[in-house]
Amino acid sequence: MSSPDSKTSLKQDTKLTHSGREPRSFHGFVNPPIVHASTVLYPDVETMVTGGQTYSYARRGNPTTDSLENALKDIEGAEGVKIANSGLNAVALAIMSCVKSGDHILIADTAYGPTRHFADTVLPSIGVSVEYYDPSLGSEIRSLFRAETAAVFTEAPGSLSFEMQDIPAIAEAAREIDASVLMDNTWASPLFCQPLALGVDLSIQAGTKYIVGHSDAMLGTVASSERAWEKLDALCGAMGCHVAPDDIYLGLRGLRTLSVRLERHQRNTFEILDWLKGQPQIGTLRYPALKSDPGYEIWKRDFSGSSGLFAFDFVDGTTKEQNFKFLNALKLYGLGYSWGGFESLAIPVRLKGMRTATPFDVNLQSVRLHIGLEDPEDLIKDLDQALEKAFG
Ligand SMILES: *Cc1c(COP(=O)(O)O)cnc(C)c1O
Repeated sequence: MSSPDSKTSLKQDTKLTHSGREPRSFHGFVNPPIVHASTVLYPDVETMVTGGQTYSYARRGNPTTDSLENALKDIEGAEGVKIANSGLNAVALAIMSCVKSGDHILIADTAYGPTRHFADTVLPSIGVSVEYYDPSLGSEIRSLFRAETAAVFTEAPGSLSFEMQDIPAIAEAAREIDASVLMDNTWASPLFCQPLALGVDLSIQAGTKYIVGHSDAMLGTVASSERAWEKLDALCGAMGCHVAPDDIYLGLRGLRTLSVRLERHQRNTFEILDWLKGQPQIGTLRYPALKSDPGYEIWKRDFSGSSGLFAFDFVDGTTKEQNFKFLNALKLYGLGYSWGGFESLAIPVRLKGMRTATPFDVNLQSVRLHIGLEDPEDLIKDLDQALEKAFG
């Protein structure tokens, strides 16, 4: 087997299959073992005091963790990768690694709700000032820069409203003032968007979603550029971050089939969107891979595919009761948070309190769907009967 370095020239699907695996290191077994560990023993005290072996203590590294980190390092073209306990934990660690007391951080107004909660509670308590910005700003974001601006947080498409951001323009502007750029890239996964190649310093994934892919574990990942790596690595070391090897393994296992799953999620989603377009109760479809979407041009330029998550608005005049009736009538779509597993899900979109920098009609009746791997014909029939119950 070749060294990991030679894998960087391979295509993404090949990396998904081969990266992070070294069967020769584990008696030829295809997959790495799940190493349950704390203590690592040394052959003698000299090796111990000189740090003369690869592993020293499981908090500082473990072959199962290394396997997932190395795979993602190849796939994201990163200097290094850190695995976190959840997507939110990955967001928090990435932000903490690039701000300190007295700094200012700009956060997209469309950021994931719990990211806002972290920013509104923890960051002010350590002396970091938080400012939300209009996600439609590209290079004009310069007008918000202050002497103490240390980081710009982006997420594309944004949570619930699916607005796109001009990441390369933001990254170029931030580079001029040496501010770090972070991107929550959960929607596209590293397969359909490569944040580091767009100029981002820290690329964040809620691994819970498409990487794990089976709704059975929680993980977060942060892939770092060369300039951001030292601080991220040092922070995670100092904070004692460690993720259980069983969950890491579920991430690795999910990663191997990411490409085939996403292809199907994408295909099913287009079929369902096509059908939704023709329904009189449905208004705007929020999915940047649709030509009708305001974010389409950016999506086409920066992304190579789309996933199974989108939202739609019901037509004007729809009541909250009709929206809820529709959701309650669904049989194949589970009512539940999170997404990215094999199954379809639905939630009502509630943006109250989630937009502070840009106007947004919080009374809009909208639904977010995750389209799973079921047969799309069944999924359409289910939507049809639920619309009939709510509006019929
Ligand atoms: C789900 C999600 C997260 C958080 O991931 P968890 O694993 O649930 O903590 C972060 N960002 C986005 C865009 C998400 O959808």
